[in-house]
Amino acid sequence: MTGKILTALEDRRLELGPDGKSEKQGEHWRLSRDGKNVAWLIFDLAGASANTLSDDGMSEFNDMLAHLEENPPKGLVIRSAKKSGFIAGADVRDFRGAVDEDAVRERMTRANAITDRLAALKFPTIAVVHGYCLGGGFEVALACDYRLAIDGATFGFPEILLGLHPGLGGTVRLTQLIDPVEAMTMMLTGKTVHTGKAKKLGIADAVIEERHVNNAVAAAIAGKIKKPEHDLKDAALATGPGRAFAARQMESKAADRAPREHYPAPYALIRLWREHGGDVGAMKKAEIDSFAKLMVSDTAQNLIRVYFLREKLKNLAGKSESSINHVHVIGAGAMGGDIAGWCAIKGYTVTLGDVALKPIAGAVKRTAKLCEARHLSSIETRDALDRLIPDPEGAGAARADLIIEAAPEKLDLKRKIYGDLEAKMKDGAILATNTSSIPLEKLAAELTDPARFVGLHFFNPASRMDVIEIVHHDNTSDETLETVRKFTGAIDKLPAPVASAPGFLVNRALMPYLMEALVMIDEGVDKVTIDKAAEKFGMPMGPVELADQVGLDICLDVAEMLQSSLDTPMAEIPDWFRKKVENGDLGRKTGKGLYEWKDGNAHKASDGEIQDGMIDRLILPLTNACVSCLRTGVIEDHDILDGAIIFGTGFAPFRGGPMHYAKTRGIEEIIGAQEKLAENHGPRFTPDAGWRDLA
Ligand code: NAD
Repeated sequence: MTGKILTALEDRRLELGPDGKSEKQGEHWRLSRDGKNVAWLIFDLAGASANTLSDDGMSEFNDMLAHLEENPPKGLVIRSAKKSGFIAGADVRDFRGAVDEDAVRERMTRANAITDRLAALKFPTIAVVHGYCLGGGFEVALACDYRLAIDGATFGFPEILLGLHPGLGGTVRLTQLIDPVEAMTMMLTGKTVHTGKAKKLGIADAVIEERHVNNAVAAAIAGKIKKPEHDLKDAALATGPGRAFAARQMESKAADRAPREHYPAPYALIRLWREHGGDVGAMKKAEIDSFAKLMVSDTAQNLIRVYFLREKLKNLAGKSESSINHVHVIGAGAMGGDIAGWCAIKGYTVTLGDVALKPIAGAVKRTAKLCEARHLSSIETRDALDRLIPDPEGAGAARADLIIEAAPEKLDLKRKIYGDLEAKMKDGAILATNTSSIPLEKLAAELTDPARFVGLHFFNPASRMDVIEIVHHDNTSDETLETVRKFTGAIDKLPAPVASAPGFLVNRALMPYLMEALVMIDEGVDKVTIDKAAEKFGMPMGPVELADQVGLDICLDVAEMLQSSLDTPMAEIPDWFRKKVENGDLGRKTGKGLYEWKDGNAHKASDGEIQDGMIDRLILPLTNACVSCLRTGVIEDHDILDGAIIFGTGFAPFRGGPMHYAKTRGIEEIIGAQEKLAENHGPRFTPDAGWRDLA
């Protein structure tokens, strides 16, 4: 589809013919005029694969608009020459490190003057949008009179994910253009809408195919494209009381997802609309003020940091193609089944083996459900399911480029599987294990070619968790590591390279946090309050609920493995906890664990007061484990560690990661807090020796 767009753009340039010569050529924008006196302004940001709104590009855009004011055409068309889409938003690099609120305000005022200039042009303006039209790009499109969407176009405001809201007039223009509640929902959730929904909401005036662009432009200029009319509900929301009522509902929804103290942007956005939604001028001014305040906040700066951490992890995968074509998965249980389904959805031929048929059938069913949840078309779903090949005999192992073993967590069983496999595997094929706790050295001990053996540690659920730990042991070859890193990128996951060590990084960090919660329960602390304390810190869910989600049996396995291998042991595993596992009370999956579970929700009955020191008791063992991983070389880079923990555990993103949190709070302060906890609660809180290297 994108290829077609480019060809059409090339055609259009040719089609402009003698009358359509280039009228003004900038570094990033080019303007020409066709025989019907329609100006075509094409955005093609120099040296970039996607258009973003840098200062430079905006200033040139301003010059183009000034030129058009002087030489008015019959209509103006704005579009992009990039394959990826219209405009992907602002250049997030420009946001990083902003500390001066006034400077942000001035900059946004200047940028707004440009979109206002576009909106004020005296001739019809038409954004022809293909691909991504996000953030500032969407705001440029909203400043046009018409938006013509090429099938597949996607509109959205992801600013909220960076702790911001739109700042280029978007809050004003979108709430004016469409049902304001729909507009606010889009901005509050950061969710994008695809072409069909964009048309339904009134964002796109028409959905067209590339070959109909000329006709649609002509129709728009002739005023033949009908604009949707505002209904009674919009009128009600144009009044102060109507907005106040809707705003209260929005605030209560926002509070469920993002506490005000940690995530101010949704509340700032709601306030902006509630207070100024009836007054365009006041709202525009207030939008800039509010945006500037948010931009310099710790939350926004840390979320911007998280954006770049994601990019950093993505870059580890590299951009070149992975040499893997066929994946064979062994074990179709909770992990293997989901891994196989995900790889098939991402375009790989996957054979899925198991000693039993039932898990394979279950995996196929879950994959079909996942396709539905991800809004895949019926053809895409059919193709994904065609690629997922049930293989109870394991014949696919001989053809696969990558074999992922996800059999039960038993050393002898896994070794036996490898012994049978090695003779069958084709030359150069890679064998990966999804083990969470068995040291790779032990698993590799009997392999003839350990260089091609590696850990690919997916998290549960494999389809939703972004990170995969790429675990190397002493003999894993660089080539193997590079191939699996690329593969990780190819299936849209983030690679986190770690050394083989007990618990690797993520479980090593998470278990002391979960174990401390068990000790607190043992001391009689209310479990709901323990969870509340962790949530107050900003964790997406508390450690008690998380243990139930992961499965108490799995927690116990990992905790026992860690307990036997750490220099400074974690908290003792309470006997009652082992009993629960013996009794089969394993958490969410059995309906009962630390909580009772119904319809996927934990029943949380009691609720006590969060006591001083509770948060440190939970969080500092986690940061301490991270420092230990750095000191022992499990991972080297602080940023990659922060990214892996955020994307692997959900660690409070607005804090920028555990190491960033520790540095922001102060290393000496954290050492002191741990020493105090050690005095009061025992040596498990002794600060790791690695803190001294950081102080
Ligand atoms: P599971 O019990 O759900 O699935 C294991 C599957 O392997 C079962 O379907 C079983 O029939 C099959 N199996 C048993 N013996 C086999 C053999 N010889 N050949 C082929 N298949 C065989 O287990 P799971 O939770 O999916 O865990 C699998 C692996 O993933 C383990 O190493 C575990 O440590 C790891 N892991 C689990 C999680 C998690 O949260 N469950 C997370 C990360 C990693």
